[in-house]
Amino acid sequence: MSLLSLPVATLGTPRIGPRRELKRALESYWAGAISEQRLLEDAAGLRAANWARQNSLGVTVIPSNDFSLYDQVLDTSVMVGAIPEVYASETEPVSLKTYFEMARGSQWGRQTASSSHGSGGYGAPAQEMTKWFDTNYHYMVPEFHRGQTFRLSSRKPIEEYEEAKALGFQTRPVLIGPVTFLKLGKSADPAFQPLSLLDELIPVYVEVLQELAKRGASWVQCDEPCLVLDLEEGARRSLLHVYDRLAREVPDVKIMIASYFGDLGDNLDTALNMPVAGLHVDLVRAPNLLGRIIAARRSDLVMSLGVIDGRNVWRSNLSTLRQQLDPVIAKLGRGHVQIAPSCSLLHVPVDVELETGLEPDLKSWLAFSVQKMRELAILARALAGDHDVAESLAESQSAVTFRRTSPKIRDADLAVRMRAIDQAMCRRASPFVPRADIQRKRFGLPAFPTTTIGSFPQTPEVRNARAAHAQGAISDEQYDKFLKEETARALRWQEDIGLDVLVHGEFERNDMVQYFGEQLAGFAFTRNGWVQSYGSRCVRPPILFGDVLRPKPITVDWWLYAQSLTSKPVKAMLTGPVTILNWSFVRDDIPRGEVCRQIALAIRDEVRDLEIAGASMIQIDEAALREGLPLRRSEWAAYLQWAVDSFRICSSGVADQTQIHTHMCYSEFNDIIDAIAAMDADVISIETSRSKMELLDAFRNYKYPNQIGPGVYDIHSPRIPEASEMKELIALARQRLQDSQLWVNPDCGLKTRKWEEVRPALINMVAAARQLRAAS
Ligand code: GLN
Ligand code: ZN
Repeated sequence: MSLLSLPVATLGTPRIGPRRELKRALESYWAGAISEQRLLEDAAGLRAANWARQNSLGVTVIPSNDFSLYDQVLDTSVMVGAIPEVYASETEPVSLKTYFEMARGSQWGRQTASSSHGSGGYGAPAQEMTKWFDTNYHYMVPEFHRGQTFRLSSRKPIEEYEEAKALGFQTRPVLIGPVTFLKLGKSADPAFQPLSLLDELIPVYVEVLQELAKRGASWVQCDEPCLVLDLEEGARRSLLHVYDRLAREVPDVKIMIASYFGDLGDNLDTALNMPVAGLHVDLVRAPNLLGRIIAARRSDLVMSLGVIDGRNVWRSNLSTLRQQLDPVIAKLGRGHVQIAPSCSLLHVPVDVELETGLEPDLKSWLAFSVQKMRELAILARALAGDHDVAESLAESQSAVTFRRTSPKIRDADLAVRMRAIDQAMCRRASPFVPRADIQRKRFGLPAFPTTTIGSFPQTPEVRNARAAHAQGAISDEQYDKFLKEETARALRWQEDIGLDVLVHGEFERNDMVQYFGEQLAGFAFTRNGWVQSYGSRCVRPPILFGDVLRPKPITVDWWLYAQSLTSKPVKAMLTGPVTILNWSFVRDDIPRGEVCRQIALAIRDEVRDLEIAGASMIQIDEAALREGLPLRRSEWAAYLQWAVDSFRICSSGVADQTQIHTHMCYSEFNDIIDAIAAMDADVISIETSRSKMELLDAFRNYKYPNQIGPGVYDIHSPRIPEASEMKELIALARQRLQDSQLWVNPDCGLKTRKWEEVRPALINMVAAARQLRAAS
């Protein structure tokens, strides 16, 4: 049977290890507890286990070079020698020390006057990090400059290919394609287009491909996810150009171009015209793509069909997939098809079998990377006509049906409430101007009121107490007492230094999404469902499997306690529906917008309960609103519509005199300013200190009427800003907005900082606001 079976690929697998072994090894190495050699041995062990696991599960197109000690984009920068001068490495291949300096910064790095990293005295900072497309994985942004040259500076793809081969695995090495790589990069000179470096870069890729071919690689996977973006004509031409050259210069290796995370849309012709041997498409995000491809493709093109969702955790219906794919394979021809997940399995957790705490039915609905590989292998056999898998197909079908029809995921009362959502529920009683007037009289705040974004340092003591409580080592009462003491101390301190609007400090929260998910029905949590976020950092996204309900108030007691300690207003602190949605694995049986509105109703009830309890200011954080934007512009409006609606559902059920705040982390606002204005929060705080307030231009140009707290200090750095610096930033804000609109606050929450940093910084911030008041 296996001879007839279709090739099964994974495109890439989680590299952290089933129990986050990579995290442990990296952090031990950084702490000086293990040697470089030991780290490299551990990493090799993880790779070997990964290859063996895929092989035993029936994956036949096994990737290599999908592993990384930190990030695959950083690996590529190092491979081609795109190493900014501040980290300049004398050694070649680039040392691990340089690699981790680029990833994490250094206290000992060299400073050069010409570098773009001029933040005095701290050694070289890490390279910038940003989101990998619309995932929650973050990559290190490559840096390019005019006149840049490239040369092969790390042989990682070649070494890992050989390593696998020595273990008996013929692999398909994975490279980030040159066009996507250049497009992901940045330059200190905004007028400079990194894509113009393409011809410089090509020889390095040629060299890598030649070396791989020489050692026996017959296929190489080049990831070009830029194919799912809105591309300018130049980028399309670049794609055609580069693969034309690679195909001509290295004719003995076949290239599989991998597109993923969306439809090829208007890049379809480009994708089909690249003279390569194979093309991978994401048929989960773009189910209709296949028909267009079948109609237009070259007959010799090998299609890799991404049919199992690599971005979510649900089991597939293999029976349906078999029925859908049978005619497709007949059309494409058996020799021209591979099956695969929609994208690399990097974005899902490793193995459902490690979950011992999930309810059995929920567990039976899930597929993590191991289960997804198994699904692919079964599907391949089914498509080859192997009747032995009939039972597995039936089982997968019933698991999916069981989930979709389970009473656990549906609540009849909620359905009624959802249908009753109307415009009135999405609108405050009065427009902003009269509301602001009422609120001004109610609060009597000074000009440039000072506040913070919510969290105070999560010290080792706070974390230890939480861990001890989770393990049962301290009782509920002891834990509660500890948290109350922390909260009381934070409040007293805020009063002492003279902040105007206080917060309780969020000491009771493990994470801004998990904390709410744990108290809402419809969410489940894993023990080992880790997904890499960046470097050694992993997150365990909540699994939003069913209708969202709030069985009881979540934050009201904490707010009441905090407010009982002070006569100044304490802002209540909530996470918004869009952020909860965007940072979870979400059910796929109803539209995301509908799930979001369900969460919004739950948060709306919380907002109402807070108001009834006496809260006069309520902040609803939407840290992830901007990052949830679809990759294609044409889909923005639909997303923003339900995202903004959801925010309004939760924020509009209060009286005019209740002040609604929101907070957004670093975001570009220019292109979504209408949506921000439509949210109609009374006050929005945003991250602006590093942009020198330029992000406020969007608000000025729009004549944004509501109040804004532009961050005046960078909470990502341990540096303590002086009052004078913050005054300069506020002056820049005043050039753009009315004084009556402005609040003074840090860029974001302070949970990652130390009290030694937070105390002087906030004292300086209050001083800055006071000096401005005195002067105006
Ligand atoms: N209230 C949250 C905090 O202060 C907001 C964090 C965020 O938006 N990332 O930590
Ligand atoms: Zn933030």
